[in-house]
Amino acid sequence: MAQFDYDLFVIGAGSAGTRAARLAALCGARTAVAEEYRIGGTCVIRGCVPKKLLVYASEFGQSFHDAKGFGWTVEWARFDWATLRENVQDEVARLSGLYRRNLERAGVGIYEDRVTVLDANTVRLAKSGATYSAERILVATGARPLRGQGVKGGELAITSNEAFLLDALPNRILIAGGGYIAVEFASIFSGLGVETTLAYRGDLILRGFDDDVRRYVQAELERTGVKIITQAAPVEIAPLESGKLVSLSNKMRLEVDEAMLALGRAPNTEALGLEKAGVRLTERGAVAVDVYSRSSVPSIFAIGDVTDRISLTPVAIREAQAFAESEFYGRPVAFDHADVPSAVFGRPPIGAVGLTEAAARAQFGDVHIYKTAFRPMKHIVAGNDQKTLMKLVVHPKDDRVLGVHIAGADAPEMIQLAAIAVKAKLTKTQWDATCALHPTAAEELVLLRERSA
Ligand code: FAD
Repeated sequence: MAQFDYDLFVIGAGSAGTRAARLAALCGARTAVAEEYRIGGTCVIRGCVPKKLLVYASEFGQSFHDAKGFGWTVEWARFDWATLRENVQDEVARLSGLYRRNLERAGVGIYEDRVTVLDANTVRLAKSGATYSAERILVATGARPLRGQGVKGGELAITSNEAFLLDALPNRILIAGGGYIAVEFASIFSGLGVETTLAYRGDLILRGFDDDVRRYVQAELERTGVKIITQAAPVEIAPLESGKLVSLSNKMRLEVDEAMLALGRAPNTEALGLEKAGVRLTERGAVAVDVYSRSSVPSIFAIGDVTDRISLTPVAIREAQAFAESEFYGRPVAFDHADVPSAVFGRPPIGAVGLTEAAARAQFGDVHIYKTAFRPMKHIVAGNDQKTLMKLVVHPKDDRVLGVHIAGADAPEMIQLAAIAVKAKLTKTQWDATCALHPTAAEELVLLRERSA
């Protein structure tokens, strides 16, 4: 008789947990996964997927405007939030169903319940109270939006979790935060016609991205109608008869219909029982893991956002794959977190991979910079003033392209391919040897000849 009920018990059916559970089960491991909310996790239910669909919706206004330059007359356009919300939720439900069927097909047992860890090999389900033993426990519980601890009345605000399910679109919204989620929702809401204000405690939004890109995107958001208040954090949110009154740290008070907090995310380890089981957590409450995603307890592993490494879906999936290969396929492998591309689906969108200019200077002292800003062909005829900014950061000695940063139409699509070249450590000379594809915006990436620094 087997010593444990399961070979693997996965907590959380998000991007990381579903991939790991499926791969383990497909090689014959007796596997279960528990999910307390909806199968698919943040990415599918209230992250990447519904967000990108809202981004598409928010871009139509500009497209209708641009169409005129190409001879189209758009007689009237009316936007209906309820139609968008329902269509997006239908797609979310379809994908969640797909994830469930894939787990079932692989033979994974599914528990729709919250789980706590009792000890190194035992978990308990909250609703049924049932306990199960497992040779390995995989913590893939993700992260949750911070609710503005320290903001009086913070519970009156929405977070990204609720933004997808609003009963009605507000006329005026204040979004607090300057990270990618704040910028994406500011672009979405203002694109849908909502009077949008972004309040950020620093001077420049999108910390961690290249400074040229940050400056350009902040200016573009302002140019296209988002009001940005810097050096200001929310202090208090008070209810009004209709709407909310938001007080900021710079003494400004704003009356809005809705307030949204996008102030960061915290790993989901609260009341999970991990510390009692001997699992070491980081200062931020993430599960501390080694490169093989092993926690301080040999039978407990953690992957995805709960480990606070790089909180992106493809990273969660690659960590899951590496975990499954190492533990169930006899091929120990660690995912390499270097040169992971990232995007901000804002207005304009950003794509970035590798080192920013500041990070490269800190590492190598001198660096070579190549950059350009131009109005794409389509925008000229459309009378659309949005430019595209492109920047290459190059190693001063060995000529390697260390970083690529693009802000402008289709930047995320371009950066996925540029990421191959950066990951492969190709040199600027090799980029230059690549023939351009005309007429595209991307061709500028292989035509940058003059150094700007
Ligand atoms: P999750 O997907 O969060 O899954 C964890 C699951 O565990 C959840 O379903 C949760 O309900 C469940 N759970 C938690 N605790 C328990 C418990 N005790 N018992 C049972 N179940 C539990 N990434 C990108 O790559 N591109 C994007 O464009 C992008 N956009 C985003 C937009 C938004 C608004 C947000 C919030 C995130 C976005 N992300 C994006 C990040 C991406 O969603 C996450 O990196 C990814 O979902 C992490 O996967 P995960 O499996 O680690 O966690």
